[in-house]
Formats: sequence, structure tokens, C-alpha cells
Amino acid sequence: MEKLVSLCKRRGFVFQSSEIYGGLNGAWDYGPLGVELLRNIKQEWWGEMTRRTNVEGIDSAILMHPRVWEASGHVENFTDPMVDCRQCKARFRLDILFEETSLKKRKEVLRAADPEKFGGQLTEETVAAEFMALADRDPAAVLTSLSCPGCGNRDTFTEARKFNLMFKTFVGPVEDSGNVVYLRPETAQGIFVNFLNVQSAGRQKVPFGIAQIGKAFRNEINTKNFLFRTREFEQMEMQFFVKPGSDDEWFEYWRNERMNWFTGLGMSKDTLRWHRHAPDKLAHYAKDAYDIEYLFPFGWGEVEGVHNRTDFDLTRHEEYSGKSMKYFDEAAKEKFTPYIIETSAGASRSFMAFLVNAYHEEEAPTAEGGSEKRVVMKFHPRLAPVKAAVFPLVNRDGMPEAARAIEEALRGRLATFYDDSGAVGRRYRRQDEIGTPWCITVDTQTLADRSVTVRERDSMVQERVASEKLLSYLTDKIG
Ligand code: ATP
Repeated sequence: MEKLVSLCKRRGFVFQSSEIYGGLNGAWDYGPLGVELLRNIKQEWWGEMTRRTNVEGIDSAILMHPRVWEASGHVENFTDPMVDCRQCKARFRLDILFEETSLKKRKEVLRAADPEKFGGQLTEETVAAEFMALADRDPAAVLTSLSCPGCGNRDTFTEARKFNLMFKTFVGPVEDSGNVVYLRPETAQGIFVNFLNVQSAGRQKVPFGIAQIGKAFRNEINTKNFLFRTREFEQMEMQFFVKPGSDDEWFEYWRNERMNWFTGLGMSKDTLRWHRHAPDKLAHYAKDAYDIEYLFPFGWGEVEGVHNRTDFDLTRHEEYSGKSMKYFDEAAKEKFTPYIIETSAGASRSFMAFLVNAYHEEEAPTAEGGSEKRVVMKFHPRLAPVKAAVFPLVNRDGMPEAARAIEEALRGRLATFYDDSGAVGRRYRRQDEIGTPWCITVDTQTLADRSVTVRERDSMVQERVASEKLLSYLTDKIG
């Protein structure tokens, strides 16, 4: 992770927000390469969703009527249990504090709680399961045995309190409770409240979906792991409205589609897995829920949730707004409240997963016949922020002019980069490090027959290509 974070800063993928003021926790800025990568991820997702005749796109406002968040259950339920350390004043999310308790400590806690039951030999699985069961049953008792990860003091935690993760602000100049609005904690509600607008404007029939990409804000108690858990992030959400009874089938369909999206963009299958929510851990609205998890350097973490939300959302909005949210099926002449299958991915978290997936260190041959370490970001060509770099072999004999002309001809169609400084080997390394799939070199032969060498990033194999054919050669390969 440290290597990746430092590469991100050095090469302009991600910077700390407000860095010159010491940074702001949980907020990050995307640099010149980062913004391209993020846009490519969002573009792939948007294209994947809206190329379908039964999915429409929208872009709803971040600020919504406060009743929306009462209807959705966020005012009441969008909370995390929080504890404070009385000594160092650090705050922790209770469930994460428990999850991160070491095996050794878990054993100790169990033995102290029930020496007879937990005195003997215990398997790792038993310790893990029994500890979490005890933490669920009696969190206060477990807390007294734990030390604060901040200052190391024991038995210093306050009782757990509910902490609402929504950021509050006010509309207009008067800061009173009548003017409270929230920064949306998810993009989904903007879709639900527009369900009938989109259905009638798009002349859609159920089943159909609505897709949206946009910022969401959560006042997370602890932010960590770079872009994984931040307070401001982007989501890519699609809500698919179906007839009750067909929901299980659509749920399976979308699970499949979403996993294929990640693998189709180069994620290896062994770094992705499904995590099904246990029945007692399901959100208040869900009938079934699976997360797509990615194997980050710090362990498995959710990148997307696929949820069967039933008719909860539309029913609640109907109740709270007093407006019918029912769909009229013309053919069957019947009215019903659709069920919703949600696919909810984090654009920022996916960005981080694609970065981790791309990062490779390997040995590469040098021009002198030796070998050296190269860092190469093996992005899928459609995601790569720069598609092709163009170099003159040397800065004389008309090569820079020829290389410039080639780069300019490509630039209108593809993201390109021109580089004429340093040895060609070093220029390759610089492009490898940002994941540029093709490096094009203009050499003496180019001046004679207008052909160039194209070197492919992963195999490092070079091919000669006529410069007139370069654009179609590259676009064919990008696909
Ligand atoms: P977690 O359990 O990690 O807090 P969640 O289950 O609350 O996540 P959802 O509400 O299902 O997440 O949100 C959908 C997606 O939005 C997640 O899969 C994730 O990719 C992204 N996401 C949620 N919270 C954050 C965050 N704080 N920072 C970055 N991305 C986030």
C-alpha cells in the first residue's frame, strides 16, 4: 500500500486534499492521471449500463428534501455504533474495533468471560466465532477487556452510542432545524423519487433500470486505507425495477453481470469473491444481499453491493410523500409496487481496486543485456489514463518533428503523451509506471518508410507498424 500511495502522489494519480494545510481526513484529490483513470472507470460503467434499452440514466441533485431521508430510514438507522477513549479522546467504530481485535486478545477475553467453557484448546474458527457472538451479546463486557488502539490504555472506553453518518447543513441564511438538509449519503434515493418521472419520460415498461453516477458523503467515524473509506466519494448505482415474483431471477442476473464487469476489465478472478449477508445482518430493507469483495493489500473489502431491496423504498416514499409510486401495467391492466434490485458500486473504491490489481513489479531486460526491476501498472487498455506515448529515438535528423506529427494526429482521438527526454529505456519505464499500453518510437527507418515501432507494455514485444495505420491499429486493440 505504501508503494502504491507514493506512486499515486509522485505520478499524479491522487493527492491528499488540502495537503499544504496538513490535509483533511477522508478527502482526496484526483490528479491529472487519476482523473482520467476515474473517468474511464465511470465511462465503462455508464456505457455498460446505458447501452441497454431497458436502462436510463439520470443525474439528480445532491441536496434533497429532508423528508427523503426520513422515508429512506437514514435519519433513524444510518448510524454506526461509536465509542470514545476517555484517555486520549480517540473515537472508534465499535464493530471495527471488535473485528480488528487480535486472535490472542480474543482468546483472553473469552477465557476471562467463561474460564470453564473456553479454558481448553480452541480452534481459530471457534475463537473468532465465539468472540463475535460475545461481542454481539454483551459489548460492554468485551470493551472493558480491550485496550485503546490509540493510547494503549485499558478499560477506557465510554459506552457505545449511535452516531449518524449523514452530513448536515442548512438551506438559506437561517441556521435552524426547519432548514436542515443533508449531503446525500447515497445516490440511490435520487433514483427512487424519480422512478415515475423516468418511467413515463423514457416510455419504459417494468422491468427497467435507472443508472446514476455521483458524489456521496458519509461522516465515517474512522477513515483509513487510502481511498477505501473516505468521507466524500463517488458511487455508480443502478436500481432495476421489477415485478414482484421475478425479483429472485433478476437478482441472479445482475449478480452475474456485475461480477463479469470487473473481470472483463482485467481483474483476476482469484482476487474477487462474493460475500452473502447473513439473514440477521441484512439491512432493514433487504430480502437478500451480496457484496463483491476485492482482495486489497489489507484484506478483503467490499467494492460493490447487489441487493434485493423489495418494495421497501417505493412504499416508504409513497407513505411519506402522499404520492402514488405504483406502476400501472397496461398489458395486464394491473397496478403494483415494483421490487428493486440494486447494484451499488463505489467508483472511488473500484478505482483503488483497479490500481491494486494493476500494480506489478517485475524484472525487465535492459539494452545492455542485463536486467532491472520495473514497476508496471497493467491497466486494461480501456482504463489506462494514457493510451500511447510517442518518442523520437534521438533529438535530431527530423525525428522529433516526425514524432510530434504522429502524436498530434493521434491526440484528437486518444489520450497520448510525447516524451523526448532521456534514454528510450527510461522513457519506457516512466510509461510502464503509469500503465501506458503502447509506446511508439520514431527512428531512422521511419524517415525512410514512415513505419514506427510499437512496443506493448506487458509483453514488451515490439512490432513495426505503418504510421498511417497507427490509429486503427491502436483502436482495434483497445476494442
Ligand atoms: P461499508 O460496509 O464498507 O461501510 P456499505 O455496506 O455501507 O460499505 P453501501 O452502502 O452498500 O456500502 O455502498 C455501496 C458502495 O459504496 C460500497 O460498495 C462502496 O464501494 C462504496 N462506499 C460506501 N462507503 C464508502 C466510503 N466511506 N468510502 C468510499 N466508498 C464507499
